[in-house]
Amino acid sequence: MNDSKIPPQIHDLLQEIGKEVHQPIYVVGGFVRDLLLRRENLDLDIVIEGDAIAFAQYLTDKWDGRLQSHRKFGTATVTRPDGFKIDFVSARSETYEHPAALPLVRWGTIEDDLYRRDFSMNALAMDLNPDSFGALVDCTDGLKDLRAGNIRVLHNQSFIHDPTRIFRAIRYEQRYGFQIVENDQTLIREAICQGVLEFVSGQRIRNEIDCILAEETVPRTVQRLREFDLFRAIQPKWSVPVDFTTRWNAARKAIDWASKYLSEDKINIDAMLWMTLLGCLHATEAVSNRLGLENQLRSKLIAKGRLCKTLDKLNPDSKPSEVYMLLKPYPLEALVFTLMQVDWQTENIKNYLIKLRRVQPLISGDDLIQLGLKPGRCFTDLLWKAFSAQLDGKVFTKQEIYQLLRIKDEI
Ligand code: ATP
Repeated sequence: MNDSKIPPQIHDLLQEIGKEVHQPIYVVGGFVRDLLLRRENLDLDIVIEGDAIAFAQYLTDKWDGRLQSHRKFGTATVTRPDGFKIDFVSARSETYEHPAALPLVRWGTIEDDLYRRDFSMNALAMDLNPDSFGALVDCTDGLKDLRAGNIRVLHNQSFIHDPTRIFRAIRYEQRYGFQIVENDQTLIREAICQGVLEFVSGQRIRNEIDCILAEETVPRTVQRLREFDLFRAIQPKWSVPVDFTTRWNAARKAIDWASKYLSEDKINIDAMLWMTLLGCLHATEAVSNRLGLENQLRSKLIAKGRLCKTLDKLNPDSKPSEVYMLLKPYPLEALVFTLMQVDWQTENIKNYLIKLRRVQPLISGDDLIQLGLKPGRCFTDLLWKAFSAQLDGKVFTKQEIYQLLRIKDEI
């Protein structure tokens, strides 16, 4: 392999790692794939034919770094003092007892380890041992597939054993402009028809979708997921809106708008990206349940589903206080997302986001108490009457509010 394309610091680091060990050791997966494609990738996954945790511990001590290990999986992550992370794993083979099950793991050779991987282009390793540093290990014709732009699984049961590979295949296909080979497209369709996705946990599917949303090719990837009817396979009520690309572009614009005008607010961008995938309220609830979305995200998505109905109650002549009252219960993400979509409500939403929601009431319950009023349910009505008049520009001072409320008369 042409290791001269490796950034010098990483090259030195890999050489150092190779010199420190007497067992066969390799860097594998995405790093090698992207090195061959001349794309930057600084994720180092190291496979050792031996005890990865013991070796990672040794390097941690040497570098004065930090170690995180999972004995059960034989994996370890070393964080160097400068924050750079390297993953280590003992070479293993995996067998699956039933679809989507966790695999049974045995220690093995680098070849075993490459055969357990998802696609031939990800089953490439680069030798780190000093005598053979830089040599490519390719037992699945990965290089040939990489050159041809082919995404190919290593055996026909691959998508059945781990259906998350379906998402990965589509993600890589769009990221690199490759194609999933015909046979594998058939395997994907067959696996989906067999209902394999039902065996996959919501969390794992959610992780895959998060990875897809982080790519630069989201509209194309989502279109491809639709071609395979994947959303419906995840949850029968899930049909991504047909105007997804328009929604996606609108969401990106909305995010830019928010970073400019709402920079002091904490906007959950992931929530806005998820909103592009979900349409009606009914489906949003069903999908949230299937994927086990956390309450915070779920409530934002559901609020977005409800917002459309609320907006129907507003019109261009709505008073600011009406806009305030109707939009106040909604999270910023739902409002910002909708801002770019519903033209005829743009002004109302913008006005609420930039101005109205920041207005501080001129009077509070304490003011009413000081004026001798007894706290009670009437406080809510009085305070809202005062605040809505303030929002609508009818009053500007406390005195004007007291006159409006005729409080002086009541004392
Ligand atoms: P990306 O650029 O998307 O992060 P990557 O190849 O680094 O690509 P990871 O998810 O970090 O992807 O996985 C690292 C490697 O682990 C992959 O290259 C692949 O060899 C293997 N791998 C990851 N997920 C699977 C899977 N579901 N089945 C088999 N092998 C997998």
